[in-house]
Amino acid sequence: MAINPADDNASIRVLFSEEDIAERVDTLGQEIAGLLGNDLLLIAILKGSFVFTADLMRSMHRAGIRPQVDFMQLSSYGTGTESSKTVEMVRDTTDPIEGRNILIVDDILESGRTMDFAREHLYKRGANKVGLCVLLDKVGKRVEGVGVEADFVGFVCPDEFVVGYGLDWAHYYRELPFIGVVEES
Ligand code: 5GP
Ligand code: MG
Repeated sequence: MAINPADDNASIRVLFSEEDIAERVDTLGQEIAGLLGNDLLLIAILKGSFVFTADLMRSMHRAGIRPQVDFMQLSSYGTGTESSKTVEMVRDTTDPIEGRNILIVDDILESGRTMDFAREHLYKRGANKVGLCVLLDKVGKRVEGVGVEADFVGFVCPDEFVVGYGLDWAHYYRELPFIGVVEES
């Protein structure tokens, strides 16, 4: 029997535990703080990166910097597991962008289209410098013609559909404190 997102009986195979994530995000926050310093505007790509961004910001606080944050909601068409070919702006940022040093924060880098779209959009609006930070990098899944690599990566992710820690499967599973793959139980 096929599993569906609302299935209470599905089990999750853990890929990155709560402890793994906490440790890695803390290191990443320190690294970013050391390299990019103050006067940094984080732009979290909704919805998937809201949990990651919240933890990352607090690790940056512990590293002694004071980042600001704004949000941009982008959608790849549909709610399925395939990365779609067009990216749409659902909700734009509201903070001033011109002349700012920005770090885009997203959950997963796959084809690169989402990050490419966000970065172009921010440069068009006059950003000074736009860096990219992703929690998970699906290495080897970039499409031709999209020259995007992240400046900061949490973990290299296997080519599987993952959920948890903000990441959904058709609107479910974002609340999980770890990252894993849904399996039939
Ligand atoms: P890209 O535009 O780089 O192809 O895709 C990146 C976006 O696709 C991510 O921001 C994320 O929303 C979605 N995505 C890619 N792989 C996964 C996955 O394994 N699980 C979930 N939940 N979303 C994914
Ligand atoms: Mg996304």
